[in-house]
Amino acid sequence: MTNEKKIKIIIIIFLILIESFVWKVYNSNDLSSIGIIGGADGPTSIIVGEVNNGLKNGNHSGPDVIIREHNDSSKNNENQTEGDDNRIELLKEAVEKGLLIIVNKENPLSMDYKPDDLKEIKYFVPDRSEASRYMRAEAADAFHQMVDKAAESGVEIKMTTAYRSYHFQKVLYDNYVASYGQAAADTFSAKPGQSEHQTGLAVDVSSPSVGYQLTIDYGEKNEGKWLAENAHKFGFIIRFPKGKEDITGFQYEPWHLRYVGLTAAKEIHEQGLTLEEFLQQNVIKKW
Ligand SMILES: [Zn+2]
Repeated sequence: MTNEKKIKIIIIIFLILIESFVWKVYNSNDLSSIGIIGGADGPTSIIVGEVNNGLKNGNHSGPDVIIREHNDSSKNNENQTEGDDNRIELLKEAVEKGLLIIVNKENPLSMDYKPDDLKEIKYFVPDRSEASRYMRAEAADAFHQMVDKAAESGVEIKMTTAYRSYHFQKVLYDNYVASYGQAAADTFSAKPGQSEHQTGLAVDVSSPSVGYQLTIDYGEKNEGKWLAENAHKFGFIIRFPKGKEDITGFQYEPWHLRYVGLTAAKEIHEQGLTLEEFLQQNVIKKW
């Protein structure tokens, strides 16, 4: 192996390590307690969706979900009600497609979960792993549209890593455990099954202004700002926002985008929520 190759491999491992850093204890007030949220906003009706946590593609059976209707005071208005019905249908559809799935320590994916609709991403940083240049088809299409739109404003955005298999994460994690012991490894590496990248809905991006690296500074650059302001128009959210670390369990990652579909992304953006908060407010899991 040439020195150049070795250096590349070290850089790639380092980038992955940075991203999986800070697996803090996940807020225990998470989805598993979502059923108790009810009373406060007293919904007028609910819709029950017979879905399997949206993991249709992975043979993973999960709980049914209920999508809450907003109890808006303006609901007497007929148009508003129609809009609400439409919104619920759209959110229900997103759940059924698996777009609103949560993956973390408490909600891991099974080892055989692999999306069956992975599609190749065409805008990528070339010196990163080829195996990760995929997203679920709908997310990939939305990503391409977003990158094209950004380019119209002179903003260059490229993928560094997207889909990451259970196996890939396992190799990484096992290597860390062998080198540092499990206790240390758990402080900086996601275990296999616990990385959102396995869903095929997450993508790390970067740009020339930061040398295509994954860095907190990205949020202050033109490209990072463009994403924060516009990603939701394409169904993406900044998944680990600043100041929400205790809710997401992750440090601020301006480069990590998550596809959730247009309806959820717009509401999450406009209301300044995390995906966890959005689901707590809108979706109930039935256990
Ligand atoms: Zn990421």
